[in-house]
Amino acid sequence: MSESGLWEVEGKAALVTGASRGIGQAIAIKLSQMGARVACVATSAENCADTVAACLEHSEGARAYGVDVSDTDAVDALVKEVLSEMGSIDILVNNAGITQDQLLLRMTEDDFDRVVEVNLKGTWNFLKSAARGLMKSGGRAINVASVVGVTGNAGQANYAASKAGVIGLTRSVAKELSGRGVCVNAVAPGFIETDMTSEITEAAAEQLKTSIPLGRVGSSAEVAEAVAWLAGPGGAYVTGQTIIVDGGLSLGG
Ligand code: NAP
Repeated sequence: MSESGLWEVEGKAALVTGASRGIGQAIAIKLSQMGARVACVATSAENCADTVAACLEHSEGARAYGVDVSDTDAVDALVKEVLSEMGSIDILVNNAGITQDQLLLRMTEDDFDRVVEVNLKGTWNFLKSAARGLMKSGGRAINVASVVGVTGNAGQANYAASKAGVIGLTRSVAKELSGRGVCVNAVAPGFIETDMTSEITEAAAEQLKTSIPLGRVGSSAEVAEAVAWLAGPGGAYVTGQTIIVDGGLSLGG
């Protein structure tokens, strides 16, 4: 809490997964601009070097860490390391995610398992390991889901199921941790321009834009703004919710 009695991001310790690029990088930089010390996590610490350098332009104490978010023991060890180096984890952002798209009839068991392990189990791993720390500070957890976890999407049965799982996980953990003042929410982006969406053809991207009411794809910075609001004073009385950041895509019609 600040002198005003409001929870502020300034001076807090944040951990952001998938922080090496795309949406996670934008979130890490945004939180550092708000004065947080940020633990930047990706598959390797080296991958987060640019993000850490960008964060250090705004606030002190940013560090890079490497882990496979789907590895429960490794995540537990990493959270302990971050706690001993940064003192606390007040804001947790579960953003790391992958796609392995395929129509159901062609999707392999590995396609299904891997996407669920990284996107859903990875989120559970960090929530579980960081929960005690979050309870101590009455902190915030924000999980990056996807609009397709709400709407479904042909060719993404594994991904949509994992993201629907993240939304259910968010609501359940929000209920469990609410007694300790922890707010747990999700952000569900639509079509955002990052490496993840770079393989889509220009023709397909143009076609997709026609189904987005705002008429354009979104940016990582626009998703980071929603996360920042949930992480900041504005999110103090909001828990268990999913904020859809999709330019109206999910409105349909
Ligand atoms: P991206 O550019 O592909 O970046 C993915 C990030 O996740 C990278 O930092 C990557 O680290 C990390 N990561 C992947 N697998 C990991 C693992 N097993 N362990 C640790 N880190 C791992 O993706 P993005 O578009 O920014 O997406 C970020 C999140 O937003 C994802 O959860 C995605 O599902 C969600 N989302 C994206 C969109 C979109 O349109 N882009 C839409 C809806 C939701 P490395 O650099 O080390 O590989």
